[in-house]
Amino acid sequence: MSKVKTRFPPSPTGHLHLGGARTALFNWLFARHHGGVFLLRFEDTDRERSRQEYVDSIKEALEWLELFWDEGPYFQTERLEIYAQFAQKLVEEGKAYYCECPPEVLEQKRKKALAEGRKPKYDGTCREKGLGPGPGRVLRFKCPQIGTTVVEDLIRGPVAFDHQELDDFVLMRPDGTPTYQFAVVVDDLTMGITHVIRGDDHLSNTPKQILLFEALGATPPKYAHVPMILGPDGTRLSKRHGALSILAYRDEGYLPQAMRNYLVRLGWSYGDQEIFSLEEMIEKFDLSRVSKSPARFDPDKLLALNAHYLRQEPTERLAQLVRPFLKNLGVEPPAPQDPKFLKAVETVKPRARTLKEMAQMMLFYFVPEIAYEEKAARKFLTRKIVPILAELIKELENLPSFEEGDLERLFRGLAEKHQLKLKHIAQPVRVALTGRTVSPGLFEIMDVLGRETVLKRLRKALEYAKEAPDG
Ligand code: GLU
Repeated sequence: MSKVKTRFPPSPTGHLHLGGARTALFNWLFARHHGGVFLLRFEDTDRERSRQEYVDSIKEALEWLELFWDEGPYFQTERLEIYAQFAQKLVEEGKAYYCECPPEVLEQKRKKALAEGRKPKYDGTCREKGLGPGPGRVLRFKCPQIGTTVVEDLIRGPVAFDHQELDDFVLMRPDGTPTYQFAVVVDDLTMGITHVIRGDDHLSNTPKQILLFEALGATPPKYAHVPMILGPDGTRLSKRHGALSILAYRDEGYLPQAMRNYLVRLGWSYGDQEIFSLEEMIEKFDLSRVSKSPARFDPDKLLALNAHYLRQEPTERLAQLVRPFLKNLGVEPPAPQDPKFLKAVETVKPRARTLKEMAQMMLFYFVPEIAYEEKAARKFLTRKIVPILAELIKELENLPSFEEGDLERLFRGLAEKHQLKLKHIAQPVRVALTGRTVSPGLFEIMDVLGRETVLKRLRKALEYAKEAPDG
């Protein structure tokens, strides 16, 4: 077999979504597994809907996922001459013909067929007219009318298509641009693609493409159609299911390795293994393990995987990654090497599921003023706590060291003295320091905040508690 070559050919008419990203990943993995080449090609002949903005965002998303292409990007709009040459060849060999049927007439025939319960199909009006090119004329493929084409699908096995089901589909539009069917074949042929891995919504295009390859005297690539992705409710995945564009996941604080791991398991499995490093994916990826039935999108699983990868990430790296998210929340984070900042990251690392969540959990460290959650303040910052807080402040002012161990001893001593459980002191202090009732370990956060900030926040809480209605 010649060297494996796969491609990812998005139309730049929207951002890269989960389905497209999975297709890209499968093609990339297949190429890497076989030591082959992965190329990127933009199918931008639909000029009305194609946008540079989407070219940029698709490239950005692939780069973020680290699915780097070895060749391209190619743009179909830069290859119009090549399509014209191939079209000419088919015309000369009598395998394609010009058609002058007005679109309105075709539309009427189409409607009539549908009304009569027949499958709409071009009726061959111009097939034998021997027309040359001319304004308004399209070029059609003279599709064989008898026989069958069998797609030897690498995932589903053989799928036969009766030629009677196919019609003389259009290759070139009147403006000289190729249709998808034609451009894709000319590209796959001239670019030497050996394997086409794509969504099974393209399966019905494949017999047409194989016939075109044959008409051009070439051997078609091998095809693998991947079952679609469904939403949790079993219908085709869409925005409705909360599925976002790939870059939106990045902006929500997902890690590329979590995303890749999630995507690879959408339709592919290796025993019951769930976690795959990139090297393992490359080593193990194989089309025979792609499922024949649709995969289901499960946002909770993606979140759980992301939490897993966040915990795996070195703290120094997380400190870098979380900074833009803190900035988005309006705080200027300390330098990423700052030991206190690293410690702050450590305190939330086991709890956060996304970088965004991590930034939110860390926010209290960096805001100048703590805003109390109303319920938390009402419950814990009461007049009852005033004497304890006052005593605690005094003790903390005089505590020789502000280490976690010393802090804990001090709290325990105070609780014992007042015959309270530790939590009866810890919770009000937690609210005073973080504004909330849930946070990382109290002594850890006091250590990170440092004596000055802790005292400032406790004094503020003391004033607040003094004003609290008598509970
Ligand atoms: N541009 C097509 C799409 O976005 C590519 C289909 C193919 O892989 O041939 O669906």
